[in-house]
Amino acid sequence: RTSAAITGFERTFVDALTPLSVPWQGADAPAPRLLVVNESLAADLQLDVEALRTDDGVALLSGAAAPADAVPVATAYSGHQFGGYSPLLGDGRALLLGELIDRDGRRVDLQLKGSGRTPFSRGGDGFAVVGPMLREYLVSEAMHALGIPTTRSLSVVATGRDIQRTGAEPGAVLARIAASHLRVGTFEYAVRNTDLTRQLADYAIDRHYPELAADPESGGNRYLEFFEAVLERQAALVAQWMLVGFVHGVMNTDNTTISGETIDYGPCAFLDAFDPSAVFSSIDHAGRYAYGNQPAVLKWNLARFAETLLRFMAETPDEAITAATGVLDSFEARYERHFATGMASKIGLDDVSADPDLIADLLTLMREHRADWTGTFRALADELRGDQVPITSLLPREHIGPWLDRWRSALAAAGRDPEAVASTMDRVNPVYIPRNHQVDAALRAATEGDLEPFGRLLTAVTHPFERRTEWAHYAAPAPQAFSDTFQTF
Ligand code: AMP
Ligand code: MG
Ligand code: MG
Repeated sequence: RTSAAITGFERTFVDALTPLSVPWQGADAPAPRLLVVNESLAADLQLDVEALRTDDGVALLSGAAAPADAVPVATAYSGHQFGGYSPLLGDGRALLLGELIDRDGRRVDLQLKGSGRTPFSRGGDGFAVVGPMLREYLVSEAMHALGIPTTRSLSVVATGRDIQRTGAEPGAVLARIAASHLRVGTFEYAVRNTDLTRQLADYAIDRHYPELAADPESGGNRYLEFFEAVLERQAALVAQWMLVGFVHGVMNTDNTTISGETIDYGPCAFLDAFDPSAVFSSIDHAGRYAYGNQPAVLKWNLARFAETLLRFMAETPDEAITAATGVLDSFEARYERHFATGMASKIGLDDVSADPDLIADLLTLMREHRADWTGTFRALADELRGDQVPITSLLPREHIGPWLDRWRSALAAAGRDPEAVASTMDRVNPVYIPRNHQVDAALRAATEGDLEPFGRLLTAVTHPFERRTEWAHYAAPAPQAFSDTFQTF
């Protein structure tokens, strides 16, 4: 069965890198039903959203119908999971339908997730269920609204198939849009074949870092520059996660993109109370992917990436290792620069040179008092205006008082008007993030068939900076009893 609800797919990845994919088709969907479709994203992609809503469109988005003018593929990749190497992972429950060109001329992948078994499924059933797919939809769209590079979500279709998890759960397919699905794990898969690895690197450079291709005779080594460019984008990305209190939860190398987008919203969660050791995934026993460990683990993943490119980086292995290590060792400084600049703007400053410990001391206070990450920065702006939420409801007066005095001095030294600073802060500090207890409740209702709570929460978290009275409950931290036991996975 085919569907023409989306046409015009391109296939540069499949054509350039044929050994990295297998043509495949999705499983049938017994009773497909569209749960949510992203109209503004569809418009950006120049898709006919009404066509997507028809039976033919829903069949396409469920994977049951193949595009009339494209051949879906499952792609191959490897990866280090929790530090251990798996030589063959790949799309065990996903299909790449093809590439689309958006309104701005950007090439993106359209991938289905949960569309049935593939040659890469190993022991898995190839399916996904409503709760987690709506969760990815919600959190990825929230991240996009926060201005953080991420894959996007076009739709979730319930398939009408019962999937066996802890009990029977309703099956679902997510349609995901990504700058590409190239990952560090794709390079780890290609690595045994030198020609393929070079073709992959050239393809990735063309697609994501075309500025590097512009002048191959510049004297530099483009593969080393490629590594550096990916490292820079990823350092900036993880800093943005840290600034909004995002815990990815499964930073395996197959979930580290070459494009610099966030991908794979499996066990992710946002911090309520600030705690660098926060882990929400029940399988992350050692805290490898804890909030505070994310920059270090990203650097580790980037080292695995560099290893796949070493042979192209210099004439001799020694030179290549020296060059790659030099770039890798720039990670901390780059990350720190992104994080420090971001933190300064969260407190209304361009930099903290006037009082270098201002941020570290605030973080110490927040950690000691388990202050709500998101709430604190909005309350600080409220403090400047003298309205809304008092900062002393989050941090005791005797501790935050002296810090507030230092902060006001730093703002005064920078010649900043407190009212203006407060408004600037409100444009970088969200009021609404997908709070775990809210997400949990919305997904529970959706799984039982009531999509209203999901829709309302989605509207709030995709307008993260706009404080509205009717959304006040979305800004409240979770009840302690919830936070003490919450796990995503
Ligand atoms: P993830 O942890 O989501 O990045 O997935 C790691 C690997 O497991 C990928 O190769 C997935 O395609 C595969 N996988 C995850 N869930 C399933 C499933 N239900 N059936 C088949 N493969 C799966
Ligand atoms: Mg993954
Ligand atoms: Mg996953």
